[in-house]
Amino acid sequence: MGERREYDVIIIGGGPAALAAAVYAGRAQLRTVVLERAGFGGQVALTHAIDNYPGFPKGVSGPELTELMKAQAERFGVETAIDEVMRLELDGDRKVAHGRDAVYRAEAVILAMGADPRKLGVPGEEELRGRGVSYCGTCDAPFFRNKRVVAVGGGDTALKEALFITRFAREVALVHRRTEFRAERIYQDEVRREPKIRLELEAVVTRVLGETKVEGVEVRHVRTGATRRLDTDGVFVFVGTEPNTKFLENLFPAAAGRHLPTDKDMMTTIPGIFAVGDVREDSYRQVATAVGEGATAGIAAEHWIAKRRAGG
Ligand code: NAP
Repeated sequence: MGERREYDVIIIGGGPAALAAAVYAGRAQLRTVVLERAGFGGQVALTHAIDNYPGFPKGVSGPELTELMKAQAERFGVETAIDEVMRLELDGDRKVAHGRDAVYRAEAVILAMGADPRKLGVPGEEELRGRGVSYCGTCDAPFFRNKRVVAVGGGDTALKEALFITRFAREVALVHRRTEFRAERIYQDEVRREPKIRLELEAVVTRVLGETKVEGVEVRHVRTGATRRLDTDGVFVFVGTEPNTKFLENLFPAAAGRHLPTDKDMMTTIPGIFAVGDVREDSYRQVATAVGEGATAGIAAEHWIAKRRAGG
């Protein structure tokens, strides 16, 4: 078992929601640690340009925004560490987070682990991951200069990333299972204006084809059931995300692997455990709203701790 460390607040995750909560907890002079398993920023660190975060009229890159938020939290005395929490437990009135490197104990916990890309779950996808199958346009589009790619999905991520990929690829086939997109109008209009994007509507990818690298995909028309092959050098999968809540099975058996319900203070069904951003049910999944939820949880955690210490 690793070293044992005591805090007032543990924040699990290192994206915008986590870092906003950290700014508030730090300013409230709570001993606070932010635990991130891989790299600070979460999904936003993979975003080349955020155009709708207020205060940046020319847009801001994910990594830059993350660095600014992290520096701001650290200025208020917040500790940040790379460690993956494997298990969270209650020990009387303390919460205990078991990381790979240490054990962290605190009065309150703010869950902000974010979400990971959802898989299509079709043959060939896992086998050819990293060999043409990707979940991040911003990261991998430059490998597809002058190549043909398929992008899958009809949400904001799919359309925004498909547009970004056109900067490199010579052709993007956007495969979506309906005729309507759920993405913002502004992205839909841009996609329809972009000559490099071809729409493949009412279609689903049923198989990724290729031996050592992606050579094509099999698509099925959802109404006729007819299948055909699209030749392609890459497949970008943008079919939504799944919250990183599986490790919470012992505390939230019904919600593990799903979004966590909270009250208006971002408190879960367990007193002193808060949830913010992409792990939270009903979140709008925007950087700006994640930051608002993080700030709310930071304030609410401070009030909750103060009330308890006063015997309330
Ligand atoms: P999303 O909004 O959940 O969209 C997922 C898309 O994938 C939907 O079009 C869905 O089709 C499709 N899909 C789901 N499962 C599928 C499957 N098995 N096979 C084929 N298609 C499948 O996910 P997202 O685009 O990643 O966005 C997540 C959240 O982040 C959203 O709230 C979004 O607004 C937000 N976001 C915002 C921005 C921004 O710039 N404002 C950028 C990125 C993300 P159906 O439409 O038929 O359900």
